[in-house]
Amino acid sequence: MPPRRLVVVGGGLAGSEAAWQAASRGVEVELWEGRPEMRTPAHSTLYLGELVCSNSLGSDLPETAAGLLKAELRRLGSLVMAAADRHRVAAGRALAVDRLAFARAVTARLASHPLVRLRRGEVDRLPEGPAVIATGPLTSEKMAQALQEELGASCLHFYDAAAPIVTGESVDPERSFWASRYEKGGGDYLNCPLTQAEYEAFWQALVSAETVPLNEIDRPLFFEGCLPVEELARRGRDTLRFGPLKPVGLVDPRTGRQPYAVVQLRREDRSGRLLNLVGFQTRLRWGAQAEVFRMIPALARAEFVRYGVMHRNTYLEAPAVLEPTLRARRRPRLFLAGQLVGVEGYLESTAAGLVAGINAARAIRGETPVVFPEETMIGALLAFVTRPRPVVQPMNASFGLLPPLRERVRGQASRRHRHVERAQEALSNFLSCVTIGT
Ligand SMILES: Cc1cc2nc3c(=O)[nH]c(=O)nc-3n(C[C@H](O)[C@H](O)[C@H](O)COP(=O)(O)OP(=O)(O)OC[C@H]3O[C@@H](n4cnc5c(N)ncnc54)[C@H](O)[C@@H]3O)c2cc1C
Repeated sequence: MPPRRLVVVGGGLAGSEAAWQAASRGVEVELWEGRPEMRTPAHSTLYLGELVCSNSLGSDLPETAAGLLKAELRRLGSLVMAAADRHRVAAGRALAVDRLAFARAVTARLASHPLVRLRRGEVDRLPEGPAVIATGPLTSEKMAQALQEELGASCLHFYDAAAPIVTGESVDPERSFWASRYEKGGGDYLNCPLTQAEYEAFWQALVSAETVPLNEIDRPLFFEGCLPVEELARRGRDTLRFGPLKPVGLVDPRTGRQPYAVVQLRREDRSGRLLNLVGFQTRLRWGAQAEVFRMIPALARAEFVRYGVMHRNTYLEAPAVLEPTLRARRRPRLFLAGQLVGVEGYLESTAAGLVAGINAARAIRGETPVVFPEETMIGALLAFVTRPRPVVQPMNASFGLLPPLRERVRGQASRRHRHVERAQEALSNFLSCVTIGT
């Protein structure tokens, strides 16, 4: 029988989870972490599973997208979730952790696993044999180059300048209208008009809102074609009306006139259940984004699936290079995981690590890698990131990614409840049909 050995590169959240899942399935794992010799601009310890910023892993309420993802990870024996539950600190409805105790626990469990060998040092090329690459948003330059050579030069993004995304159903249909500028195209944009008074109040709030401090590694993002919306607004009261909020060529069917200003929303996926605010890449803090962007009348009750960001982030053009199993199309023994595959967030990265670890172990054992059902949060997230779409940008867990319910359910709370029930049923059916266990 061939050796059941897997190399995992990157001992962050995804790599640690992938190593754990593979070792739990009887595979020998060599887990490589570049720190402490190799440095990244965000990590500061030598522990595996270090949380680079917030110590919160998001809501733990069962009927939220983040809560559903946690429930699925717990059910699948996630190392990261077990350490988080063990080292949680009081944080209301969120799951926050003592970050040092958490990372020490992840490190200790891996270091003491009889099938895991922990190695330190930067890996600068893709391993020859079965491997999981989970080097994260701050992947070292040499590894980024190796990925580009292997997977294709245009397949790696280095920065993430993303506008916020809202759910289509949360946009007020009474205060928005579908149309294309000068009626060219087929009404492809959902337009959110503002009166002069609404625009001026919005502009004032936007230029006064708090932004995330600019980090040296993020400075290259600031070129003229990609300015944050608040930066554009600071150039003058009317700059936005000649830029992303320009109303020309649009007529509001309710008034029969061109609005004073218009925010345009564009479909993020084919179904149009998710919409992004065109031209609204931003460095506003997330709380400020919710407050300021809800001043746009049609977005007063908008549900944000993802906030805007502008930061260094290495991630793949996943639809071009990855299967939904997270296996590289061009290299069947290579799996990718974590933020690198185009998910965003601590537990989303962990989920991608979990699936890559399970599938790499399956491939080594001669079994077919599995695709999680789309009705589960894990399945929906990985289906979304690996499916072709107009603009590939990282994605958080969200109810907007789940397939619509077959039955009509009235009220958001009841719909979410049904989504969670359906996800649990789908995971149970999946686990009873496919043996993914140890
Ligand atoms: C500055 C910053 C702040 C963030 N803040 C948050 C937040 O508050 N909340 C949130 O949910 N998400 C946040 N994220 C996004 C994301 O959730 C985290 O980056 C998460 O840690 C990603 O997990 P990962 O396993 O993919 O990568 P990481 O956790 O970064 O792990 C990758 C590991 O690979 C190692 N490595 C890199 N290159 C090599 C190499 N060539 N050889 C060997 N080892 C290598 C790195 O040292 C690192 O340990 C943030 C991201 C960044 C960049």
